[in-house]
Amino acid sequence: MYSQDDQAISFVALSVHELRTPLTLLRGYIEVFEEELSGKVDPELKDFMDKMNAQAEQLMAYVNNILNVARIDNDQLELRLQEESWSTVLKSAVVALGLQAKVRGISLHCQIANDLPSVGIDRLSINEVINNLVDNAIKYSGSSKIIKIEAHRSGDGLVETTVQDFGLGISTSLLPNLFTKFYRDHHNRAQVGGNGLGLYLSKAIVSAHGGNLWVRSKEGEGSTFGFTLIPYDQLTKQAKLDGNTEMVRSAHGWIKNHSLYRR
Ligand code: ADP
Repeated sequence: MYSQDDQAISFVALSVHELRTPLTLLRGYIEVFEEELSGKVDPELKDFMDKMNAQAEQLMAYVNNILNVARIDNDQLELRLQEESWSTVLKSAVVALGLQAKVRGISLHCQIANDLPSVGIDRLSINEVINNLVDNAIKYSGSSKIIKIEAHRSGDGLVETTVQDFGLGISTSLLPNLFTKFYRDHHNRAQVGGNGLGLYLSKAIVSAHGGNLWVRSKEGEGSTFGFTLIPYDQLTKQAKLDGNTEMVRSAHGWIKNHSLYRR
């Protein structure tokens, strides 16, 4: 049974939706194997398990991207904005992505300022933004083995997070195209897999949160993608929803009447 929201999304998205259940089961079984067998299997088998796990994670992220793009295109992206500690959310996302990086020999260096205010976010959606940016940094790292993830308070009081790689980089003339649906840089699309949806989706999610997603890059030197989020107290003032702990915002504005919200 599809939820009412899902009925309106395209046939492709509905088909992709079907992949979620077997994938979830597959991930669960791999996790059980890893827990039960850790320390008991030889390193080569452990390495295979890590790779299987990382591939399953990536497939799940791909499925989620397609579903979310369908939601955005049908004007159905709805966010349940709640107060969250940004350092907790970011740290746990980075830990989850560590394995994906590790199987490629890459280490993630994470630095989070300790004076960050809490933010108003839809945790699942923002996790997808982090996933997409770090996944790209991994994919386009070339021979570089380090990715830096940082979070700090920006000059205008927002919470800014950056993901920096030291890999292939992007030529200046191509930068304006990156956030367009299906766009892929022709220089590296033969070597690196992808579908050109990640940045389109991430930009839409960050914008729906009231933030901004930007890029700085130099060909051959690497790229930095950054996004801002609004501190929770600022968000409540802005939306004139003080006292409301569950605020809902769609890609096209706030939904103040919570009875309209279905998921
Ligand atoms: P995908 O990676 O699936 O192709 P995205 O929408 O995530 O799609 O990215 C669009 C394009 O932007 C990529 O095809 C790639 O050319 C470029 N790109 C994104 N992130 C990076 C990065 N960290 N380094 C170099 N190029 C990047």
